[in-house]
Amino acid sequence: MDPMVELDTQPWDRPAPERAGRLSMYGVLPEEFTAMGAPGRGEHIFGMIQRPWEYREGFPRLSREIREWLAANFDTALPEVAECHASEDGSTKLMLRLGDGECIEAVHMPRVVRNPRVTLCVSSQVGCAMGCAFCATGTLGIRRNLTAGEIVGQVLTALRKLGPERPHAITLVFMGMGEPLHNLEQVHRAIRILNHTKGLNISTRRITVSTSGLVPGIERLAYLEPRPWLAVSLNATTDEARSALMPVNRAWNMARLRQALGAWPLGDREKLTIEYVLVGGENDTPEDADRLADWMGELRRGHNVNLIRMNEHEAASFKEPAEAQVDAFVARLKARGCFVTVRKSRGRDVQGACGQLVKNGKDSELRSANC
Ligand code: SF4
Repeated sequence: MDPMVELDTQPWDRPAPERAGRLSMYGVLPEEFTAMGAPGRGEHIFGMIQRPWEYREGFPRLSREIREWLAANFDTALPEVAECHASEDGSTKLMLRLGDGECIEAVHMPRVVRNPRVTLCVSSQVGCAMGCAFCATGTLGIRRNLTAGEIVGQVLTALRKLGPERPHAITLVFMGMGEPLHNLEQVHRAIRILNHTKGLNISTRRITVSTSGLVPGIERLAYLEPRPWLAVSLNATTDEARSALMPVNRAWNMARLRQALGAWPLGDREKLTIEYVLVGGENDTPEDADRLADWMGELRRGHNVNLIRMNEHEAASFKEPAEAQVDAFVARLKARGCFVTVRKSRGRDVQGACGQLVKNGKDSELRSANC
């Protein structure tokens, strides 16, 4: 059976492992602390552990009674930084070790617009089941889902190490390892925590979940609150070509995906993003640009086509597109009324760019150009 079809019955959908059988305190909401009998206000505990600007080693601003209660009832550790690779372009790839020794990667990308801002690309799974042909992570297969506590912990570890502290300067993108909609329950719990006004309070407008096109997940996410913004990786313009690049298309083809996007209940000023990795000689012709515009239809108005140049890596034989081909593709889409951006890849020299996140697994199995 296709690995994508039975969403709820796959082995990686089992209850998430917790260190020593205990729940991470970073995956708990304020009202849950209260319901669990915390010796203090749940909101106070939540704020102290979730807000980087409140953080002090050992949480001295929490009473001793609360600290002992937390230590007795929860896993209080964050993911550890196992490796840190700084790119020449200012971005940093962090390899984070989880409680059971598995490793994931997050990429921290500062940028200066008017004020300094950081985009943090986070992982939702250890490995990935989707098997996209152009993606290094896909070659690993799936090892397990992350828990909400591990996803939140990933964000807090990166922010404590590299900043910024204030939520208005943070943009979160679920574009690291894994298919977030394969782990929707834990990803959405993490978003509730990261969006909570008593915690980091990151606006849902600054949280984007990127999917390979898992239609049942899109349809479920559409009606969850709080709801992040959605990005979908398309990457081809015919079912035949897309199925060859992205096996998910065999289960939910382009027409079905387009139908799900058309039904997405857009919020005020909300935009959908259609991501398209341009692979040299594979999907970068003028005819592809025309078919892409046709497929978008009404989505051309106000929504964003984000073109990404293929990042070459040793796990796949695909090539980067020629610069002239990219320019012609952009011009053709614009002529058809599409709003187009070309994403600047960050962290390419440290294998931290899109589709290059491959280093994971137990410590003994790490493999990367930087190891
Ligand atoms: S592109 Fe995303 S969904 Fe596809 S294999 Fe890579 S990590 Fe998984």
